[in-house]
Amino acid sequence: MLGYPRIGRDRELKKALESYWASDSGSHELTASVDSLRARDVRRLADLGLTQDSAIPASFALYDQVLDAILATGAVPTRFADLADEEGRLDRDASFVLARGDDARGPLEMTKWFNTNYHYLVPEIGPQTPFAADPRELIGQFRAGSGDSGTPLRPAVLGPVSFLLLSKADDAAPEGFDPLDRLDDLVEVYRGLIDQVAAEGAQWIQIEEPALVTEHHRPDLAGRVRDAYRRLTAARTPTGPSILVATPYGDAEDLLEPLVDAGVDAVHVDLVSGPDGGRLREPSADQLALFTGEDAPVLVAGVVNGQNIWRTDLRTTFALLEELHEAGARVSVSTSTSLIHVPHDAAREDRLDDQPRRWLAFADQKVGETVVLAKGLAEGSEAIADHLEASDEAIRHRAEARGTRDADVRERVSGLTEADGHRETAEERKRKQATDGIAANLPDVPTTTIGSFPQTADIRSARADHRAGRLGEAEYVERLQQEIRSVISLQEDLGLDVLVHGEPERNDMVQYFAENLDGFDVTRYGWVQSYGSRCTRPSILWGDVSREGPGVRGEAITVPWISYAQSLTTKPVKGMLTGPVTILAWSFVREDQPLADTAQQVALALRDEVEDLESAGIGVVQVDEPALRELLPLRERDRPDYLEWSVRSFRIATSGVRPETQIHTHLCYSEFGEVLSAIDALDADVTSVEAARSRMELLDPLADIGFERGIGPGVWDIHSPRVPTVGEIEDLLAAASRAIPRDRLWANPDCGLKTRGYEETTAALARLVESARRLRAAVAV
Ligand code: GLN
Ligand code: ZN
Repeated sequence: MLGYPRIGRDRELKKALESYWASDSGSHELTASVDSLRARDVRRLADLGLTQDSAIPASFALYDQVLDAILATGAVPTRFADLADEEGRLDRDASFVLARGDDARGPLEMTKWFNTNYHYLVPEIGPQTPFAADPRELIGQFRAGSGDSGTPLRPAVLGPVSFLLLSKADDAAPEGFDPLDRLDDLVEVYRGLIDQVAAEGAQWIQIEEPALVTEHHRPDLAGRVRDAYRRLTAARTPTGPSILVATPYGDAEDLLEPLVDAGVDAVHVDLVSGPDGGRLREPSADQLALFTGEDAPVLVAGVVNGQNIWRTDLRTTFALLEELHEAGARVSVSTSTSLIHVPHDAAREDRLDDQPRRWLAFADQKVGETVVLAKGLAEGSEAIADHLEASDEAIRHRAEARGTRDADVRERVSGLTEADGHRETAEERKRKQATDGIAANLPDVPTTTIGSFPQTADIRSARADHRAGRLGEAEYVERLQQEIRSVISLQEDLGLDVLVHGEPERNDMVQYFAENLDGFDVTRYGWVQSYGSRCTRPSILWGDVSREGPGVRGEAITVPWISYAQSLTTKPVKGMLTGPVTILAWSFVREDQPLADTAQQVALALRDEVEDLESAGIGVVQVDEPALRELLPLRERDRPDYLEWSVRSFRIATSGVRPETQIHTHLCYSEFGEVLSAIDALDADVTSVEAARSRMELLDPLADIGFERGIGPGVWDIHSPRVPTVGEIEDLLAAASRAIPRDRLWANPDCGLKTRGYEETTAALARLVESARRLRAAVAV
């Protein structure tokens, strides 16, 4: 097992951190809560069967494992240098400043962790960044955890190669500086850490090198990995620690060889993660050969999926393990990745029906599966016969369950033709929208927002009361309609051109659809860390998807709210849906069929919704795909296929309407460089994108590839509470209008406004409208 959820069964860590940051509790209280949470988790893991020495990794990062590696290596970014002590070390409070910023400076950048929804803090490395081993946290966790469990733990740390591959060059670094140039210096620090861990008596150390599974363009990487690990293995003492190198999130391919060649004691290989997720993969013959020689390292087989929530097919998996064993490998059983990507315990989800409840395995269950498989290897399959039976039974139950395969849904998907993903040409649509569609009454550079308006405490509690049965259906609807009335009248007062209803009915842009579509369920305790103290609760997509579910019975999901909003105004109201790719990206998704197939089902359900909006008189519909970039596979060779099906699913969702109906999409959270042509291929009439912070960087490349439809580059960075001035917005709009002709340009914020307050929202939108007016006036002159 590579790592256990850190957040706590009841999100104790979140609560402890947030109360400390809010100054509701002091440093001692934070330490006490964290210590007791970790002690409980370690005891739990021992109870679940991890009783062998060094079986439990000490992987309980307080905020982020990359931040921990910054602390452990003393790699203090220059702009935070004042926070370090004389030895160049950062204490806990200082580390929170790196994570969250302070009055004087912004935090470290945060970005997506491989192919997961976890986000890590990006180290900033320059030629002068100091390095100094600081083993306090490694050793602290090792000592405390070993005491709590009664067996020694396995200290765990992000490895030097991945650390640098995940870093960015700091601002002072000269052009062309590559953080990996500092590998030699950094390895020296890791040698120091190994020394210290050895002095503590640790028998093993887990060094994580996930970046080895990604696409990299450094021809000499294998050589660097070999050199680095030769030096690290040389740092071992006769009594330890043995070195386990882990390569989660994909296939490290030919980068396993240099690790083995360097003489590490064990190599963890991820045998399930891949572009399609969740399929057991045999190591290649070359890879297997690395583990079968005389002095070969232990093959730590990552066969229990750490990134999804389904029970492992124990029989098939056990067969693979036996095969590896028979081939001569010394096999040990593990998860494919750390379990931080799954919730704690499926046994708590007692409100779920048998389906999908009987098919679920969260972290605790996955630890149990790992232990069972290891027992089978040690004692023979007889010893685990009951578990194999139970696993077979769950698979059978699932295959036969009502909802796993819905004949109508399947028939519809197989009846799809090329034409179902096509609308009239963009010019044709533009012409018709300008005469008979919403564009007939819009000025140049129309103003709009991305969908959500501030989610007030009042709205949240109305939703909670409704859910708990304290607020009746009629009162709830009235309460939401009241909110919609106020959002519409605010937008009219502000003079926005295309209005939205504000999304007050949505707790979350994916969960709301999951709750209203067949084939999904939502959990009660299924929280997963997103970053720091933040958690999300992904929905579970387990069956065939349609709008025919018990919740809706073929009824539209969003139409009542949006058409109510439209009834209040003569301005156009934009219908608002979450796109198929984003729904998949932010849910736990079934693995018994390719993602592409599941995406088509979701797309068809959304297509019905888009058509219903059109029939209800809505002339403009936005289908959000903020996660389009996020699901992009780690390896380049897997990307064309992904882009093909993701684009197609968007187009299926949006191509059922008349040319007069204007389709928008919205993208955010990422650099779009690698998906520009996919954005074009979505064929939306208007695309809004996050752009304020990057100062419209993407517009030129987009123009270069011949993008010719409407575009709304965000002119207000809604991630910051700061209200931009009219001048700033005007500058951004002016920059945009240099790359995009004004008849294709829209003015909008970067993203939805749900996390903002009303005061700043009102002020910023007023300025946005004013800036667009001035731009138009400038044209008229
Ligand atoms: N329509 C959504 C909103 O405004 C879009 C959110 C997003 O892009 N993440 O909240
Ligand atoms: Zn967004």
